[in-house]
Amino acid sequence: MSQGVITVSYIAATILFILALGGLSNQETARRGNLYGMIGMAIAIIATVSAPGVSSYLEIVVAMGIGGIIGYILAVKVDMTQMPELVAILHSLVGMAAVLVGYANFMDPTISFPTSVEKIIHEIEIYIGVLIGAVTFSGSIIAFGKLSGKIGGSPMLLPARHWLNLGLLLAAIWFGREFVHAAETGGGMQPLIIMTVIALIFGIHMVMAIGGADMPVVVSMLNSYSGWAASATGFMLSNDLLIVTGALVGSSGAILSYIMCRAMNRNFVAVIAGGFGTEGGSSSPTSTEDQGEVISVDTDEVAELLSEAKEIMIIPGYGMAVAQAQHTVNEITRTLKEKKINVRFGIHPVAGRMPGHMNVLLAEAKVPYDIVYEMDEINDDFPKIDVSIIIGANDIVNPSAQEDPNSPIAGMPVLECWKGKTTIVLKRSMATGYAGVQNPLFFKENTRMYFGDAKDSLDAVLKLLNS
Ligand code: NDP
Repeated sequence: MSQGVITVSYIAATILFILALGGLSNQETARRGNLYGMIGMAIAIIATVSAPGVSSYLEIVVAMGIGGIIGYILAVKVDMTQMPELVAILHSLVGMAAVLVGYANFMDPTISFPTSVEKIIHEIEIYIGVLIGAVTFSGSIIAFGKLSGKIGGSPMLLPARHWLNLGLLLAAIWFGREFVHAAETGGGMQPLIIMTVIALIFGIHMVMAIGGADMPVVVSMLNSYSGWAASATGFMLSNDLLIVTGALVGSSGAILSYIMCRAMNRNFVAVIAGGFGTEGGSSSPTSTEDQGEVISVDTDEVAELLSEAKEIMIIPGYGMAVAQAQHTVNEITRTLKEKKINVRFGIHPVAGRMPGHMNVLLAEAKVPYDIVYEMDEINDDFPKIDVSIIIGANDIVNPSAQEDPNSPIAGMPVLECWKGKTTIVLKRSMATGYAGVQNPLFFKENTRMYFGDAKDSLDAVLKLLNS
């Protein structure tokens, strides 16, 4: 392929990636967005491997075959609830690639530069690329551990942790200077290795310090870092498409982090500094004695409450994903709508375990988009709601976020379902949610607890509604 065709292909791929991002911003166009992304990536790969400098096709085909098979097996095997972990571990691979490309580039004897300024710029690119890559790599591994429950969700708060971070940052800058100096005389490997170790420690420390309920911000932040790592790799390889694609991922990830912070009423710097949240994903109940009595109901009562309602709000959470109850939820919605009941969905921005988690599940079950509302759009409507039905959600409907200034989730906006007539909560036990915080909603007078696996419970309700 001539350089001209490659440049045109790169521009086409870039446009398709931008269209893909645009498409992904809306549920109705998300599928099309994915398609644009796939076509763009196919063009990018074909153009890159057809570049004049590429000669060893066998290695490339074998590597792509192995990577493709692993990717295919993972994609087929992974459960929807494991998606966030998968995303985190994939981010770590982008980070690792940036580190390896950086080292390979640094050691490549065939690379030469016409001027010393260009050589220094290239060394700085390598240094920054390895730095971002190593932080992304180790941070993503820890995020993977936290999201999969292999590492506890509580923040690890070392004494003087801010000083430690500052010290690591200053050390990385100092070794950067050493690296550029040493590289002038053919050295530089030692400071590069020391900086890599520092960056790995920094990534581990940064994510370990972040507590359970702030993980959404970390997931999107690491997404952004992986983009910048790819962009840095693009600079090292002088590949314009990789630079642009990395920047697209980096900036969209940064915007997502900002949206997540706003959704949780958090300051981005405060989240990164760490220390919020307690034990994550705990299934053991914390103390409930001083909270009062809960009123539990059975299938008949739930079916009756739903049939008699005029306005119903369904609030799905992580438990709906665990139970895979979305198809039954859709069936129930259809049945209730046939009974002329107005059914809507209220979606919290951090419901589930990844941005857009609930929207993906509802779209999969073919719930019509026009009855699915964002939290901001429907939070004022709750006083008019007859029944809110909470399906495996906990933190996102916790009134203590508003009522208790000492709560670890204080200030986080929540769906104010308790302002409606009746709230039905579907969950298996009195266990806390991801943030590890007990929920006073369960003890309110107008709350009814319907215990059991969400799918089994809803199947039973659907049967009664249809009979
Ligand atoms: P939560 O984790 O707060 O609560 C989920 C609830 O679902 C649990 O209390 C659990 O109770 C219940 N549950 C689990 N399995 C089932 C089942 N099979 N049937 C019925 N119920 C079930 O989820 P939310 O969606 O309310 O909140 C999301 C939390 O996750 C927030 O704290 C958010 O910060 C965090 N998070 C979000 C990310 C994102 O990007 N969206 C990423 C990482 C973390 P029980 O065990 O009693 O059944």
